[in-house]
Amino acid sequence: MSTRRNFMRASLAATLGAAFAQSSARSAFAAPQVANAASALGKMKLSFRPYLLTLRHAFGVSGVTRTETMGVQVEIECDGIVGYGEASMPPYLSESTDSVLAFLKRVDLSQFNDPFALDDILTYVDGICENNAAAKCSIDLALHDLVGKLMGQPWWRIWGLNKEKTPTTMYTIGIDTPEKVMEKTREAAKFELLKVKLGRDKKSDREMIESVRAVSDKPIAVDANQGWKDKVYALEMIEWLHEQGIVMVEQPMKKTKHDDIAWITERSPLPVMADESLQRLTDIPKLKGVFSGINIKLMKCTGLREAWKMLNFARALDMKVMVGCMTETSCAISAAAQLSPAVDWADLDGNLLISNDLFDGVRTEPNGKLVLSDKPGLGLTKLEKPINRLDTLI
Ligand code: MG
Repeated sequence: MSTRRNFMRASLAATLGAAFAQSSARSAFAAPQVANAASALGKMKLSFRPYLLTLRHAFGVSGVTRTETMGVQVEIECDGIVGYGEASMPPYLSESTDSVLAFLKRVDLSQFNDPFALDDILTYVDGICENNAAAKCSIDLALHDLVGKLMGQPWWRIWGLNKEKTPTTMYTIGIDTPEKVMEKTREAAKFELLKVKLGRDKKSDREMIESVRAVSDKPIAVDANQGWKDKVYALEMIEWLHEQGIVMVEQPMKKTKHDDIAWITERSPLPVMADESLQRLTDIPKLKGVFSGINIKLMKCTGLREAWKMLNFARALDMKVMVGCMTETSCAISAAAQLSPAVDWADLDGNLLISNDLFDGVRTEPNGKLVLSDKPGLGLTKLEKPINRLDTLI
């Protein structure tokens, strides 16, 4: 058995070596390590530290306003190659810096000899305990970054996606006073698609849209964040929003109100997307017929391994797909962006909302178009000092 396994590992190494010898003519990032990846890589070393994300503007959604978000930065090092990952823990989810650090202390990667064994490693990480999706995600991202670097290829390319097909990201306008909303909208004037947070009472919601419309005629996606209480009212709001040039509505009612949301979706002139109703892959079958599509977020679904499965599963069910984010550095945003050529909408502005980004990765054109890096893994370069990402739009 071990002879057969050694033969298969040697064959894999030879095949990968040949594949990347071919690609090295095109790629500046061909990695010779892959030739012996299956047999001679060193142990993986995990390290992590808390990192507080500072928001440029106070950020309001239905129910809560905040100025910073807790995060944890993760590294997995193997033979001098470092993979970067990140956990972000907005307060409305159940994780904290303490819970993420406690989880990461339980992760023992020394039992694995081969970072390419992504499936075994991430199944082990997922099985350590229930929940802790953001903590699990930080390992998943660091491992994907490491493996991509060892292969010398970015993940969009490993998955066979076309980087020219990236969408423009939405730019989120949080709930605020009319003056502040107009100021934020002017700041986002060049973005092709805005996202507006609603979900309060009729007067406040209409005031939000009218404030944006006072300074912009760009298409708008709306996120009600479960805020509307009545299905008839929600449908009336959606019909009014349709007249205002809104193109999509996210999570109109409470996540458990499947019957009401299905009633709305059946009658809605706009696609209705699931966010809070969705965590992981196993939730998707319950949402078919309730929503038009799903919003995949890495911090909720444990990372790229599961996100890729969710995307393909939703497509098989003929559902729309968007990829979203939390407040994150360009580490997790660049990870989510790897999927973006395959989605209908991207809501990947978490790095644009902070003033202390730690990485260069996916770039954003002034109109919001995502530009994927050709660098391997998640396409990241760690910065010498934190920057305000919105200042760097290309
Ligand atoms: Mg949402």
